[in-house]
Amino acid sequence: MGEITSVIIVGGGPSGLSTAAYLHHLSIPYTLLEREDCFASLWQKYTYDRVHLHLAKRFSQLPLMPIPSNYPTYLSRTLFLRYLNDYVSHFEIAPKYARKVEMASFDGLEWEVGVRNLDSGDFEVYRSRFLVVATGDACDVSIPEVDGLGSFPGEFMPVQEWQEIALDLANCGAKTSIVVRSSMHVISRGMAYAGLVLLKYLPLNWVDSIVTMMSKVVYGDLTKYGIQRPEEGPFALKVKSGKYPVIDCGTLHKIKSGEVQVLPAGIKSINGSEVCFENGKEYPFEVIIFATGFKRSTKEWLRSDDDLLNDDGFPKKTFPADHWKGGENGVYFVGLARRGLYGAAMDAQNIAHHINNLISYT
Ligand SMILES: Cc1cc2nc3c(=O)[nH]c(=O)nc-3n(C[C@H](O)[C@H](O)[C@H](O)COP(=O)(O)OP(=O)(O)OC[C@H]3O[C@@H](n4cnc5c(N)ncnc54)[C@H](O)[C@@H]3O)c2cc1C
Repeated sequence: MGEITSVIIVGGGPSGLSTAAYLHHLSIPYTLLEREDCFASLWQKYTYDRVHLHLAKRFSQLPLMPIPSNYPTYLSRTLFLRYLNDYVSHFEIAPKYARKVEMASFDGLEWEVGVRNLDSGDFEVYRSRFLVVATGDACDVSIPEVDGLGSFPGEFMPVQEWQEIALDLANCGAKTSIVVRSSMHVISRGMAYAGLVLLKYLPLNWVDSIVTMMSKVVYGDLTKYGIQRPEEGPFALKVKSGKYPVIDCGTLHKIKSGEVQVLPAGIKSINGSEVCFENGKEYPFEVIIFATGFKRSTKEWLRSDDDLLNDDGFPKKTFPADHWKGGENGVYFVGLARRGLYGAAMDAQNIAHHINNLISYT
């Protein structure tokens, strides 16, 4: 028969924790399933010590518990994890760890969720009236297929973020190159902050023009360093294609001083330690770090008649059109509208209230 609860939340990152806290606040029972052995695994296991939140704390706090006023505006990884730890304790969140969801289907009344227990290898079944998908927009790292990658004798590794790694490597004396195939916006933390505040009062295309202008004034023409600015503004691009602007924490200074080199062409193939580029150039490397984006495996396990997700694993309904509400079967998406922690906090609040209303009036 399987374990039964009101709500199953899949994913114990900030989005899943936000939903769990809100359900707890409304006294709605839930089960939180997380495939890793800890909550916020992206932050605990897959980011490195020097990482900071890119956005100011007022845009990064989870619902019902503000980030303490004595914390700095831009939290370090350590402080963000301390805040999350306090959050988990405060709302008594107890995820079931090492539980990888492999299947979820709706039988007309309830969700049946099939879960692999990664400790024992057993297949477990959970049942609930509501299902909340909180698996993140970056749940699986994607490494491109590169001809000859197998012949590379050095190390290659995937990472979540490249700009701070390039900076760290250069600071440690490593001869570092960044391969930039497409155009990108480079903005500072301050510009990102100003943009987010302005978005509350001005239309998106105005904010994009202002932020792009600020970037041009501060950083100047970047084409001579191999960096092209996209035609579309930074916020429009993020909403449309999920492409984040690069938040500069010092890397641009290294690029301008020549300590970090930009290679403005894609990798064509690899031949031993020689990496061949699409513009015909070849350079030897000892280590390759892939910061080439993510894929989402949600579509593989979420079986639904409603055809709710696009091929990329994102909800077809986009912000602000009830993007958090799945179909009629009590399925919800939190943190999948490419709106960061701020958007996830709002999704969690909407979802918890929606479930509460359905429970109260049916
Ligand atoms: C370096 C860095 C800096 C950032 N800075 C900011 C910032 O300043 N402001 C901001 O708003 N955002 C920021 N972000 C983005 C945002 O904070 C993170 O993407 C955030 O972790 C998203 O939370 P999430 O819960 O939606 O997804 P995740 O943190 O990815 O959590 C998803 C969880 O789901 C689990 N999961 C996935 N599939 C399954 C499955 N099948 N079964 C069970 N569990 C599963 C995963 O193991 C994971 O723990 C930053 C991200 C990074 C990497």
